[in-house]
Amino acid sequence: MSGFDGYDQWKTASPYDDVDEIRDNTDFEEQFSDYNSLSDLYHSVYKYTACGPTLGVTCWGVIEPANDVDAGPNSICYDQEGPITYYGDDLRKFGSFADMREQGITIIELYVSSIVEGVDNCTDTYAVEWDSMQTEPEELREQFWQAVEDCDSEANSIWNETHGCPDCFDYPDDWDDLKPVDEDCPACGGHGVCI
Ligand SMILES: [Zn+2]
Repeated sequence: MSGFDGYDQWKTASPYDDVDEIRDNTDFEEQFSDYNSLSDLYHSVYKYTACGPTLGVTCWGVIEPANDVDAGPNSICYDQEGPITYYGDDLRKFGSFADMREQGITIIELYVSSIVEGVDNCTDTYAVEWDSMQTEPEELREQFWQAVEDCDSEANSIWNETHGCPDCFDYPDDWDDLKPVDEDCPACGGHGVCI
């Protein structure tokens, strides 16, 4: 599966020394067979999770597109060894799972995080190391969806702590700072307001 001369050095330089076999994405693809790319997975997570989280993925064997960063998904070439992480829309630069397989690009770690609109608060980053040599792939998949859920629930807590409407709770009339949402508030119905 090695497609470039630097592969051996690259593998030796891996911090994942306990991995003495070459990983590939077979397990990952099986667990996420509803998707055909990391970008596809990201868009689905973004769309179907209330807080609209961002997905980041670190891969090995990947490489900045040589000259044209915006050249698109098929522009990856073995120009630089080592891990690289893309987030959100940039995940399309990894191409499809088929492209990744062809080019020996291996998924190492996934990250889920979310920025809460209206406040500068970001959730924690929930990371899942995709090490199917150590952990069953099914369990890793569950860890991933748990990370999405935990991120969403943290984003929801941040929202509830900061998006109270003027009638939420009995704050002084001149209160102009953020305040929590009152679940029983008749004015906003416990939904708070966009800020
Ligand atoms: Zn309210």
